Amino acid sequence: MPAHKASLSENASCGLTTVRGSASRVVLLGRQGAGKGTQAERLAAHFDVPRISTGDMFRAGADTGAELNGDLSRSMKAGELMPDVVVVEMVRARLSHTDAIETGFVMEGFPRNVAQAEALDSMLAPDGLDVAVELVVPSDLVRMRLASRRVCVDCGANYSVAQPPRSGWTCDVCGGQVVSRQDDNQAAIDRRLALYEEQSAPLIEWYRRTGRLAAVDGTGNPDTVSQNLLATVADHHARAQPNVGGLNQGGKS
Ligand code: AMP
Repeated sequence: MPAHKASLSENASCGLTTVRGSASRVVLLGRQGAGKGTQAERLAAHFDVPRISTGDMFRAGADTGAELNGDLSRSMKAGELMPDVVVVEMVRARLSHTDAIETGFVMEGFPRNVAQAEALDSMLAPDGLDVAVELVVPSDLVRMRLASRRVCVDCGANYSVAQPPRSGWTCDVCGGQVVSRQDDNQAAIDRRLALYEEQSAPLIEWYRRTGRLAAVDGTGNPDTVSQNLLATVADHHARAQPNVGGLNQGGKS
């Protein structure tokens, strides 16, 4: 991890203080519906680094037709994974942007299997990843979350049947339409969770064996999960970079 000086700011995001200029290379792992998107956004805001979501990048491509051909777009809606070569090149291109090079990133949705993780390691060499954090949520709970999840088509804000927008299915944040994700239908949920067990669960073992795995309980209140996640990442930073890590921990709220 490149050495950067961190500075604290009063600008709070979801109860987390922003730490400007602290390099952070973090991957969030966990089942679909574990809350990776929400937590990645909060953590990225805290460290003032870009959030990189391969799912969002593919959805943007599928919506505009710019990046995905018809077959790939259909297979994504059915819950299938995109070919490794496509995903890896998309991530390589994104990581070559100045923001990710200079400040790091919080990534979710990638890697999804050991081959992708090895490709990520080679992209990040010699500095490497700080930590991969698994958000642990059991499969019966993520099934319930996915079935009731609703998202804004324009800004991606998350809602649920139990916590809808204030007015109809119109986004509180941007006024966009709030709908079910196309791959949140029952068949696609089954397929995505089966693929997770088959490909991503071994990836978690792989990160554990290579000494870079941490786990955070993702079942509670999102604010509590955020605090625990931040403490876990700050702890890794503190061990890797005692001076900056000390500042990061001081910034916890
Ligand atoms: P997500 O929002 O992370 O659940 O991703 C939505 C969809 O995008 C997945 O079901 C895949 O079709 C595709 N996708 C996203 N990330 C990856 C990845 N790392 N490898 C393969 N396919 C991916």
